[in-house]
Order: sequence, then C-alpha cells, then structure tokens
Amino acid sequence: MGLEDVRAALDAACEGAGRAPEDVALIAVSKVQPIERVEAVLAAGHRVFGENRVQEAAGKWPDLKACFSGVELHLIGPLQTNKARQALDLFDVIQTVDRPKLAKTLARLAQETGRCPPLYVQVNTGEEPQKAGVLPGDTDGFVAECRSLELPVVGLMCIPPVEEEPSLHFALLAKIAARNGLKELSMGMSSDFERAVAQGATSVRVGSAIFGARVPPH
Ligand SMILES: *Cc1c(COP(=O)(O)O)cnc(C)c1O
Repeated sequence: MGLEDVRAALDAACEGAGRAPEDVALIAVSKVQPIERVEAVLAAGHRVFGENRVQEAAGKWPDLKACFSGVELHLIGPLQTNKARQALDLFDVIQTVDRPKLAKTLARLAQETGRCPPLYVQVNTGEEPQKAGVLPGDTDGFVAECRSLELPVVGLMCIPPVEEEPSLHFALLAKIAARNGLKELSMGMSSDFERAVAQGATSVRVGSAIFGARVPPH
C-alpha cells in the first residue's frame, strides 16, 4: 500500500465512522525495516513512529531524530525494567506498561528525573498465556495502582489474538478504557485498522501496509 494509501484508507475509515481524521493518530511501525524505507516516510513528512524493541530503536532513532525534527516515538513492545531508563530517554510515549514491577520502576525514575512521558497500559484482551499485558479483569486495579504512583496513564493498548475477530477485542478495550476514564485507545494494525477506527481507536499502529513486508533480521 504505502503511506499515502494507508492515509487515504484511514481517512475513509474515519469518515465512515463519523470521526474526525485528526482524532486518530497514524503510528508508522518501523521495526526491522531497512533505514531507507524509514527515511523515505520521514521525508514524506510523517513524524509519528513506533518501535517494539528498545535496543533496536536506540540504534537508529537518535540519529534520525537529529536529522528530522518533531519526531514522536512510541514504544509498542515489551519493556524490561532494566531498560526502563533507556526507554524513558528514547521514547515520547510508552504503550506497554503491563505489571506492577515496571510501574514502580517508571515511577521511581520519573521522581528522579522529574519527567515521564504519557503511558498506556497494555491489556491482554484475549487472555493469551504467551502474550504480554494485564488481564481484562485485573486492569481496573492496575490502572488505579499506576494512578496512585502518580504515573501519567492516558490510555489502553491491545494486540488481539490472530485467529479471532479483532472488533470484539477492540470493543472490550474501549469499554475498559471508558469505565476507567481513559481517553486514548491504541488498537488496530495493517490488517484491521479500519475496524479499530470503527470501535474508537485514537491511534492505529501500522507497519507492513506502510513500509512493505518486514525484512527479517539477520
Ligand atoms: C509489528 C507491530 C505492529 C504493526 O504490525 P503490521 O501488521 O505490520 O501493521 C503493530 N503493533 C505492534 C505491537 C507490533 O509489534
């Protein structure tokens, strides 16, 4: 598809859902993509990106941010507590807060540095054992715990099971967010971002549809 086609499809999905296009952020997921593809999307004027590994992001984004101003970088993959400090230096949004130990570490670092980026809680809506995220039934309690630590939690994020209709998971995430007074919903990827918009996504995370198939790491 490419950036322009995805932008057009996203605008059409917003129109279909009666939503304003500026209310849904397009996060271009650049993990494992050759740097030329990332630079091309930056050169086209796009500024919001997602990466799922701290180490990989550290290898490319400091240089890219030095060349292109106004980049907003989202962490959308699991965060180990021993990489939390590095993640806070690198990322403008962290979408994968998913356990008390990580929340406490982020709170400590936020106290120490006096700043903390906006955070999302990742919810394992499909209750898949291999997947990160707080279980739906534990989310209210975990959000409350983050708030008691004074962490700036702004929304929820989910990755639905591959075999299931994603709309059900998007609707569940929207319901949990609403009852917790959280505005932001990060949901929807290349194959289902239109359905996510219909369920209220405020950001969609799109990789292969923008950049092409991911080149496997060597
Ligand atoms: C890789 C990734 C995406 C993008 O996936 P595509 O199917 O290529 O759009 C979105 N969200 C997360 C958490 C990812 O790891």
